[in-house]
Formats: sequence, structure tokens, C-alpha cells
Amino acid sequence: MSSYSIGSLVMRNRILSTGHQTYLAEDHRPGEAFVAYHEARARGGAGLIITESARFHDSSTSDARDLWLMSDEAIPAFAKVAQAVKAHGTKIIGQLSHAGRVTRRMSQGMRGISYAPSATPEHRNHVVPREIPFEMVGEIAAAAGRAAGRYRAADYDGVELMASHGLLFAQFLNPRVNRRKDAYGGSLENRMRALKEALAAARAAISPEMVLGLRISAEEHEADGLKREEVLEICMRLEAAGLIDYVNVTVGSMAGLGGSIHVVPPMEVDPAYVAERASKIRSVVGIPVMVAGRINDPQLGEQVIASGQADMVAMTRSMITDPEMPKKVFDDRLSEIRACIGCNQACIGHFHSGASISCIQTPRTGRELKIRLPRAVSQPMNVLVVGAGPAGLRAAVTAAADGHKVELHEAASVVGGQVALAQLLPGRSEFGGLITNLEDEVAQSGVKLQLGSRISLERIAELAPDLVVLATGARPVEPEIEGREEGHVLSAEDVLTGQAKPRQSVLIADWRCDWVGIGMAMNLAAKGHRVRLAVNGSTAGQNIQQYVRDYWIGKLHEAGVEIIPYARIFGVDAETAYLLHSSSPQPVICEGVDTVVLVSGRESETGLETELKARGIAYVSVGDCNTARTAEEAVYEGLVLTRCALEA
Ligand code: SF4
Repeated sequence: MSSYSIGSLVMRNRILSTGHQTYLAEDHRPGEAFVAYHEARARGGAGLIITESARFHDSSTSDARDLWLMSDEAIPAFAKVAQAVKAHGTKIIGQLSHAGRVTRRMSQGMRGISYAPSATPEHRNHVVPREIPFEMVGEIAAAAGRAAGRYRAADYDGVELMASHGLLFAQFLNPRVNRRKDAYGGSLENRMRALKEALAAARAAISPEMVLGLRISAEEHEADGLKREEVLEICMRLEAAGLIDYVNVTVGSMAGLGGSIHVVPPMEVDPAYVAERASKIRSVVGIPVMVAGRINDPQLGEQVIASGQADMVAMTRSMITDPEMPKKVFDDRLSEIRACIGCNQACIGHFHSGASISCIQTPRTGRELKIRLPRAVSQPMNVLVVGAGPAGLRAAVTAAADGHKVELHEAASVVGGQVALAQLLPGRSEFGGLITNLEDEVAQSGVKLQLGSRISLERIAELAPDLVVLATGARPVEPEIEGREEGHVLSAEDVLTGQAKPRQSVLIADWRCDWVGIGMAMNLAAKGHRVRLAVNGSTAGQNIQQYVRDYWIGKLHEAGVEIIPYARIFGVDAETAYLLHSSSPQPVICEGVDTVVLVSGRESETGLETELKARGIAYVSVGDCNTARTAEEAVYEGLVLTRCALEA
């Protein structure tokens, strides 16, 4: 990954972090946490950081924690980011965007009136925007120029305008969304006018040394979205007009249910799949091309560059997971890289749930000021960790990294706990990377791992550790079901591991509304079973990230799975399942059911805790043995609670 230049902007390598919402802004400005987040990635060796989009005009709806760059008072806060990033040799570009019709609901923190080129409905959030008055288009372009000038004043190296992901300028470009009859609608030249005016205003406001870039979706993957050929033509025309210095290529759109999976493509999508689209753009323009989209390991990034598909590779989530990734590449420490697994749970998932960015594997991400880096303690302790699921593995690695002597005992013959099961679900094998990464860290950190070791209270007393970390997990809850003995009722765990065989017509009773119900349904439908998925919530996968959920609901539809919302099983016989509707006294009766598969909740394993407490042995509980956790929560507790207990 050699150095690379765009005009006079020289970057030390070709790895960049694209603009992404961190939800770390304070009063719509970068604060200390925002600076610390980006500084960590700069210190870790990124060649270029593009900071998240800032709102630049009042007519864009705004989220409670969006950046705003609408007044000069914001400049000092942005300048602190530039100063911190550039101090580590990383270049920095600031992004500008306008949401247009892509407007989340008030309940999700969004405020303001939704303005767009035309009153064309947006399908994801069910918004019908107002048409932007003619004079306002010019005001928006001028405001983009003023905001670009503020990035200049804040000592940024460049500005990037977003015409990607179905946002405002993409809406102007798109003839199926832009139905205007004035100078901003109709022909391609007219539809490009708003974007060209904004770019021209930005160009006039920045210094000659700064670069001006465009982020665009090579295709939006929506029925009414921008198409590949249209985007190629747009890029060619903008380059010919001298308005852009680079193109930053992505795919997808936030405006509909089909294109959203591509906005932050999860593990279901092939690695580096956007590179082929980027190469098409690179073949028709002479300016540098950057590409994003599941480039999740450095060797893959090298391939994309070496094959000429792009000039720089966006490895944003790789650095959300491991901020030191570029440095490890250049120091030839590839085996130490913690790879992103494409789960979307804590990066984009946090954004959609209104929380600051983090990573399922790296709790320090987004909490750089709260969670310190490992450091050797002066008085090492003997630590015994019981259970090698995500919480126990993270606890062991955390204690060892701080210099403690750690033994890790796991009753099963493999590590992983619930994750070992989750990775058996269709499309979820990469989830096992969470455990592979932790296993590597265990191996490198000097932790003594003992598999097949169900440790007793007596053995703990013999070992006499200074601290026991309990990570003993949870077991499935057996729900009460009338007539259970008449039906063929199985647990999801037994079906997944092949220990139980469903018959032909299956009802999956899903209490959890996460991956397991969806995965079981896909698995059984693929084997030819008739499948009904009864969920104890509004829809299947209610508790997983919304873009991923929408994708899988489409897949369930294609597979012929019938989803029954708001339903909880209470009875069964040989041919029927009886469900309670959560908001109606009218039961849901499912006839022709010969098998019920239970995706039930889990209850904590607390036996050892009770014994330790009785013997007065110092311990801390992490993960599912507290209360059933997500993998992210388990990893977080493994780090934070273990360190708190060791430092108490
Ligand atoms: Fe990658 Fe998952 Fe971390 Fe997001 S939360 S950066 S997808 S590993």
C-alpha cells in the first residue's frame, strides 16, 4: 500500500476511512470524544480520514447528533479534529451532505421539514417531502460553498460532497425521483445543475491545495434508483467540467428497502463486491477512484489496488474494529489484526438505535476517553476465568494484556459458547470470526487455556486465585406449553446441531426476534419444509440492525416462509399450534403443524456463583451468567467488569 497523491495532497498509504456517522458529536460539533475517535485511527496509520457528513443548510432534516457546519462559530471545533489527525501524518477531508427526502422519523431523533427536488415518496421511512422552491436550490449550493470555506478555515485538506446513498444530490440526478419542470429537472444537464452549482461554489471557496471530491453510489439497487450507466455519464461530465478531483465509489441507497443493505454491506454480501463497479467508473475517468464495500482485509485491499480497480481502498469498518490495522500491515504484524466480521451490530447498528459508535469486538471504539489501552500493572494477580464464550475470552485477554497471570477453563471441547452455535446459521459463518479473533488473542497473550475442564469449587479452592471471573453462560428456558407431550416439540439448539429432526410442517416459535429464528426458518425452508415463523414482536429479526433485517425479511419472503407477528405459543397437539396474539384476545390457530421448534430465551447459569459467594471467594460475573446478553454486551462486560474488579 504505497503512498498516493491526489493533486498536491500526498497520502502515506492508500487506506482510507470513509465518512460514517459516529453519533459522537456534541451540540452538533466535534467534541473531545469525536477527536479521540479519529485520532486513534490516525495514530493507527490511516492514510486518509474523511470525517462524517456535516449538515450545511437549514432545509436538510437533521438528527439530534449530526454535525452542523452552518456558521463560523463551528470552525474551532472542526479545527481540533484536523489538528489531531494531521499530527499523526494522516490527511483529512470533510464531508458535506443534505438528506433531501431521506428523513428518519421524529421518534428516531430526526427534526425539521423534509425538502427534496420533488414530492416523490420515500419508501423506507414513509415520508412524502415538500418540493424545494426554485430559489432555494441556489441557496443550498451557495451554502455548500460557505461550508467548504469553513473546512478550509479549519485546516482540512479537502472537501467531499455526498451524491451517494439516495441523498439530496442523488435525488436531483435521478429522473425517477426528480420530476421538476424547471431548470433543475428534465434533461441530465438540468438534473446535474444543482450538484454542479454546489461543487462550483465549494471549488471557489477552498484553497488550490485542497481537493474536492464526490461520493456517489455506482448504482442504488432500487427499482427507482440511479442506474450504472447514468452514474458513469455523470462522473464523466463532472470530470470534464473540472469540478471534481476524485470519485469515492459506493453502492446502495437509504431511500428504500432494497438498496439499504448495500449502504453498509454486512457479512451476507461478498467481500470487495463494489470494486468491479468502481473499475467501470475508473475506466471512463482520469481522476483517482476510491472504493468501499466489505474490503475487510489488507490483502484484499492490495488486490483491488494491484488489479487497477481503484486507486485507494476504504477500510472503514476494518479500522472501527482495529484502529491499528494499517500500522500492523506496515510492521508485518498481520496475524495481530482483529478483522471486522461484517455483523453491523455496533457500528451502523448503534447509529440506528441512537447510540454512539462502537464495535462488537472492540469496546474501546467510540469510548477512547473512557476505556484505557492495556498497560502492565505493578502487582500482577492470579486470575481464573471460568467459561470461554465471548465474555470469558475477552476477560482472559484483558487481564493478560494488563500483565496478570491467567488460566481459562472451558467445560466444552471448543471455545465460543453461543457464538459457536450462531455461526451454524445460514449466512452467519463469518460471525465465528468473533471467536477466531479472540482465540488468536488468547494464544498470543500467554493465557493458559484448558478445554474440557468443568471446574469445581474444590479445584478453585486449590488453585486459590486472586480473582475468579465467572463467564459460565446461560441455558435455554423451557417454556410451559399445554399439550407438549402430544406435539413434536424441539429446541433450536438440538435442530441446529443435528440432534433432533423436524418433520415436514414446522412452526418456529421465536421469543428472541434475532438471528436464530430467521436462520432456522431459512435453513428449514431450504430443506423443503413448510415453515411458519411466529415471532414475539413486530417482525422477524426485530432486534437486529434494520438494513440487515430488511434484507432477510426479503429472503424469508422468497423462501416462502410465513411470518406471524405478535404471537406467542401457549399450546400444541399433534397437528396444531395455538398462539396468543399479544394485542388481541383472539388466539391464532395454526393448523397442519407437525413440528414446533422453540427459539426460547435463556436463563443464567448461577450455580458456581452461589458457591463462591458462600465460600467468600472473590469473583466477578460477566456475560450471559449475569443476564442473557448479546455478544456485544458480553464482550463489553468481559473487558470492563474484569478490569474494574482487578482494579478495585
Ligand atoms: Fe465490523 Fe461488526 Fe465491528 Fe461493525 S460491529 S465494525 S461490522 S465487527
